[in-house]
Amino acid sequence: SSRVFHPDDIVVKTPHSQIDHQSLTLMAGPCSVESRDHLLKMAEVAKQAGATVLRGGAFKPRTSPYSFQGLGEEGLKYLRKAADAFDLDVVTEVMDEGHVDLVGRYTDIFQIGARNMQNFSLLKAVGKTKLPVMLKRGMSASIDDLLNAAEYIAAGGNQQIILVERGIRTFDNKYNRNTLDVGAVPVLRELTPYPVMVDPSHAAGYHDLVIPEALAGVAAGAAGLIVEIHDNPSQAFSDGPQALLPEDLLVMADKARKIKAVL
Ligand code: PEP
Ligand code: MN
Repeated sequence: SSRVFHPDDIVVKTPHSQIDHQSLTLMAGPCSVESRDHLLKMAEVAKQAGATVLRGGAFKPRTSPYSFQGLGEEGLKYLRKAADAFDLDVVTEVMDEGHVDLVGRYTDIFQIGARNMQNFSLLKAVGKTKLPVMLKRGMSASIDDLLNAAEYIAAGGNQQIILVERGIRTFDNKYNRNTLDVGAVPVLRELTPYPVMVDPSHAAGYHDLVIPEALAGVAAGAAGLIVEIHDNPSQAFSDGPQALLPEDLLVMADKARKIKAVL
């Protein structure tokens, strides 16, 4: 996975997206897939903002076992239908090695969540597939930990990897849910050939911080943004406080493109 062996950038290709540092890829959608109709609404919003990938969790890694765990395969079906209705790709989390085949039947990109960044059997399993893998940095993972996790995927033969900085735990996570490690973006770009994206939603944790952190990520050289949206955040099944309203997503996307254009 090192630049030493891969001097050229690796471009990640999906049916509707080309994820690389020449462009700015937008992925948007709710934290969790909640219902068929809600997801269709959110897919329409994502499309309007210029997103090419619809996000949404059908298998949710919740901190508490009593929180909503996701709709499972039903959610995957809604994702596929909503994405197809608007010519979008799907990115969704696979949490378990045993679900790789199932999730792979519906998604265009596997998401490996922060909590599973070092689930090595899961990394090996997605490394044997041909689908792109969006690998999120663990909340307490060093950059080298992330690189080694990516290596587990690449070693299986799959180099269609996207790295995501989504905020890490630091001494002060009172006002930000996690601390966006903006500096990780240029470091990862130097060290690896993979596109590096930023998830300002899980870094910030609060909607009013999401746009500035997204823009900081773009300014630092991110190849794209993955952002959570909701039309009624107080009723969201998960991560409501960090969800951008539809109109805010449009504002964010517009500003992000302006920043990208001057880099
Ligand atoms: C998510 O994308 O909703 C998610 C759970 O992200 P992370 O793994 O970064 O916490
Ligand atoms: Mn979330």
